Amino acid sequence: MTEAVTVALRVRPLVKSEVQRGCRVAVQRAAPGMPQVAVNRTDYFTYNHVFDSDDTQQGIYDSCVQPKLLRLLNGFNVTILAYGQTGSGKTYTMGTGFDGIMDEHAGLIPRAVNEIFQQMMAMSQNVEYKVTCSFVELYQEQFFDLFSRKKREDSTVDMREDKNGVFLLGLTELNVHAAKEVTDQLMRGSSGRAVAATAMNETSSRSHAIFTLTIVATTKGNEDKTVTTSKFNFVDLAGSERCSKTLACGDRFKEGVNINKGLLALGNVITVLGSNQGTGYVPYRQSKLTRLLQDSLGGNSVTVMIVCVSPADYNVPETLSTLRYADRALQIKNKAVVNLDPHAAEVAKLKDTIQQLRLELL
Ligand code: ADP
Ligand code: MG
Repeated sequence: MTEAVTVALRVRPLVKSEVQRGCRVAVQRAAPGMPQVAVNRTDYFTYNHVFDSDDTQQGIYDSCVQPKLLRLLNGFNVTILAYGQTGSGKTYTMGTGFDGIMDEHAGLIPRAVNEIFQQMMAMSQNVEYKVTCSFVELYQEQFFDLFSRKKREDSTVDMREDKNGVFLLGLTELNVHAAKEVTDQLMRGSSGRAVAATAMNETSSRSHAIFTLTIVATTKGNEDKTVTTSKFNFVDLAGSERCSKTLACGDRFKEGVNINKGLLALGNVITVLGSNQGTGYVPYRQSKLTRLLQDSLGGNSVTVMIVCVSPADYNVPETLSTLRYADRALQIKNKAVVNLDPHAAEVAKLKDTIQQLRLELL
């Protein structure tokens, strides 16, 4: 089964610093109820969803994430990516920096985690679930384990590859049994990221944070058991701006062109996947980010890309480049399959064959 990557655009409200600067709103919904935005009323872009300042965290969760939970619990991988320039609302939307308060500001991760545990509870008579979670930051092609108890410089993990694909050797995988346990760990991990960010000159705007919930589901009962493993990835990508300034590329643009290797490779992968679907070489190996996300892009995952932009005239050049990038992502098709345990898959196939033979005997 192939399905397109869902691309949702979120235009956040003007923030205080933009109001103080005297910014005007230049990016807005083209027409009421339409998934289309207009930039300066001259450039128009259409996506699967468009959200603006009227849309709440709950509303975005309900449209983009909630409908994927059933797939997740049926053994599919689900990936939510947040893309956009620094300050555009990626971390706010994802909830990567969750503060423990489950109010209207809580982002997608804590909302999803709460509902997943509710749904697993409802299914617990028939299915046994084992849940683990991990949290890594990828900064300058180096992975840092945000759940490690070690000092940051000692918390690096290496990427390895075996017949099942890539993995991070020695990454902390926490066993978790309740939503609160997960969100407490998320808070602990993200505070590590924030502390490091001030110490290391805005690391967070130039690093990717990847939070993963892994669910192993085993059916209960005496019948042949089926085992599925599914991963829910939340990726808070590095700022997409190509300059050192945090909110826009103004006069300091020439000073330091900062092209993030992962985002550059992600753009290349998106271009290839969008232009020659299913054929040709896809340059996943160009960065650790794209190697890690290989399954989520044109691979075995149900993927939602949430593209975040500022509404301000001041940020229009960066916003246009973000909107064009998102346009290409609309063309990607993924092939999502249920991640059955090989033995269980074999049993299912044999049962199918027996059923066929029985029918032929009739
Ligand atoms: P990013 O992670 O893309 O750098 P943040 O998520 O940190 O950006 O957002 C930058 C600022 O804008 C934060 O103060 C955040 O609270 C605020 N913000 C972002 N999106 C929204 C929104 N939809 N509604 C209200 N405030 C928002
Ligand atoms: Mg952020």
